[in-house]
Amino acid sequence: MTTVYLNGQFLALEEARIPVMDRGFLFGDGVYEVIPVYDRQPFRLHEHLARLQDSLDGIRLENPHAAAEWENLILRIVESADWPDQGIYLQVTRGQGPRDHAFPKIVHPTVFILPMQLSPPAAEAVERGVSAITSQDNRWLRCDLKVTSLLPNVLLRQLSVDADCAETILLRDGQLIEGSASSVFIVLDGILLAPPKTNLMLPGITYDVVLELAAAASMPHQVRPISETELRQASEIWLTSSTKEVMPVTKLDGQTVGSGQPGPLFRQMHADYQAFKHRIMRGRSVA
Ligand code: PMP
Repeated sequence: MTTVYLNGQFLALEEARIPVMDRGFLFGDGVYEVIPVYDRQPFRLHEHLARLQDSLDGIRLENPHAAAEWENLILRIVESADWPDQGIYLQVTRGQGPRDHAFPKIVHPTVFILPMQLSPPAAEAVERGVSAITSQDNRWLRCDLKVTSLLPNVLLRQLSVDADCAETILLRDGQLIEGSASSVFIVLDGILLAPPKTNLMLPGITYDVVLELAAAASMPHQVRPISETELRQASEIWLTSSTKEVMPVTKLDGQTVGSGQPGPLFRQMHADYQAFKHRIMRGRSVA
């Protein structure tokens, strides 16, 4: 049985109900987070809660919980779930109100926390790489907010599903932005490149981890705008996210990337990421 948290109650997932007048349902008026948990230890919890605060501020919704309260709620859900490795989904909406775009006068936010089983990325995908396609980014101009109105991301992701690919990499005005549900890095002339954080992309928590690990390993790296031409010339392309970790892309729009195999910098980063995760699971490092 999966236990979830909904508005002050811990209950079975099957029992959890929200009213149809919830603005999350009517307008997608809410924000969310997905926090990876390894061996029941949340990874980068404070960073995820800080990004949640930024998303809430961005949609002008007061945070219903202090960080310590969030931590307690999340840890209770983590303990109750069957699996040691989890993705904790949490969502806050602007609650119920009449069907009017304007905010309700009095807001009672809806808070929902759901544990999901987290499986490590498939070994074959890590060994052989995955395929991706590109598409023009047609989302709004506040992609730095993690909002539940994900229809553009859903439609963009489905393009890659239809093409039997793992991700849709988004381009705007000739620049690499991110994936439909991931951050994107490239390797060009032996240098790891990441697009800078702007309002057009989600500030990925894994993106930060990868840049920290690159610095710790003295891997040459730079944060700067990346053009579509550079993306297509890259010797390596990586996708990163809390659930995908770091994933090599070996085919882009049907063209081979680099040698067609995951590259040397990917192999190093993958090993460093796994070692970092395992240190955290052994509790020897503050995540
Ligand atoms: N960009 C988008 C659009 C995403 O949905 C995600 C996954 N949440 C990411 C980037 C990666 O973010 P994170 O590393 O925090 O999972």
